[in-house]
Amino acid sequence: MASAAALSVLLQEGIGDTIRISLTPEPGQSRTAEVVVAQELLQTTGQRAFTPMVTACPGCGRTTSTFFQELAKTVQEHVRAKMPEWRISHPGAENLSLAVMGCVVNGPGESRQADIGISLPGTGEAPSAPVFIDGEKKVTLKGENIAAEFVALIDDYVETRYARKAG
Ligand code: SF4
Repeated sequence: MASAAALSVLLQEGIGDTIRISLTPEPGQSRTAEVVVAQELLQTTGQRAFTPMVTACPGCGRTTSTFFQELAKTVQEHVRAKMPEWRISHPGAENLSLAVMGCVVNGPGESRQADIGISLPGTGEAPSAPVFIDGEKKVTLKGENIAAEFVALIDDYVETRYARKAG
């Protein structure tokens, strides 16, 4: 039995043809969580992309809000749910990179590194959330519908960048 770190090293050395992750499930948790973890491990070690990955900051004393954690989860669940459709209609969408950050300290920088990133307001910041697309600040979201509007921007981006070409 190997830890995730040890597995990563083996994978990066090109050792092994099959991986199997075993997790102790939380009450009611689906066994598919093991597949998701295996896919994330393969993706983060650069072996193969399965679904767009969301980079989210861990949070710290600069934000008391949990909104960035909730938004990161919403976005990850959304893109994972869309992937079976996108795999056919928008090949390459699995390589999309996303960022959901908790404050201005690392928010704009990390968001610029992603294809689409959002920098949510930390404690004491104005209640607005700039969105960066392809490294440029494109729009600032405010109000109650930030999550839905950010998800819509992601869908639009996938539509534009990865739509399957006719013929
Ligand atoms: S982006 Fe802001 S809230 Fe997130 S970990 Fe960095 S400093 Fe803390």
